[in-house]
Amino acid sequence: MTTEQHICAVCQRDCTDLGWVQRIADDKVTRTTCTECDADERFRRYADTGYIDTWLMTQAMLVAEGYGRNKSAERRKLSLDIHGACDGLRELVNRFELVVWFGGMQKFARDSKYKGTSAAKPVASPWGEVKVMCYTMCGRAMITLDAPSCDVTVITEEDASESRMGLNGLHATAAEARGLLQAVIDAWTRGEIAMADDTGVQLAC
Ligand SMILES: [Zn+2]
Repeated sequence: MTTEQHICAVCQRDCTDLGWVQRIADDKVTRTTCTECDADERFRRYADTGYIDTWLMTQAMLVAEGYGRNKSAERRKLSLDIHGACDGLRELVNRFELVVWFGGMQKFARDSKYKGTSAAKPVASPWGEVKVMCYTMCGRAMITLDAPSCDVTVITEEDASESRMGLNGLHATAAEARGLLQAVIDAWTRGEIAMADDTGVQLAC
């Protein structure tokens, strides 16, 4: 239990009860914001740059469904936008599932005695080299395509024989996510990706 007070760097409110978000660098807290100001900043960042993170993706879905504290027209419009951008990735995620997952990644992951597997070599993409990682746990498989400045994670059932894959996480604009998925689909199609056991692949929180 902490009795420490948390003051929002933006609105200066005591957000100890409201909830807060902290940025940490080198194990030190560099900035504390209340959850409302944090949401404002993330939505504003999306409006300015199109950048979507997993938290924003979830938040946008809640607002689109009528939940959330901020019910302004602007917040709702941005949420529907974000929701639409994520939905727009669905077709490509399905393609990824068909070509990459059902095209051999699933078999490799299931045959491996390790939870973590990854592509032996990085894949070239418009956004730099992409590390392709797969992690299986409790019947689920998560695949992350990790570039230096953006990443996308999809999730499916480990033993699925029908289409089950969906978007699970994002730190990218929709265009960046598309570029990552497409680059890996293309490399896989050209036979350039060989999966390998990788005990370094862990579930990140
Ligand atoms: Zn605040």
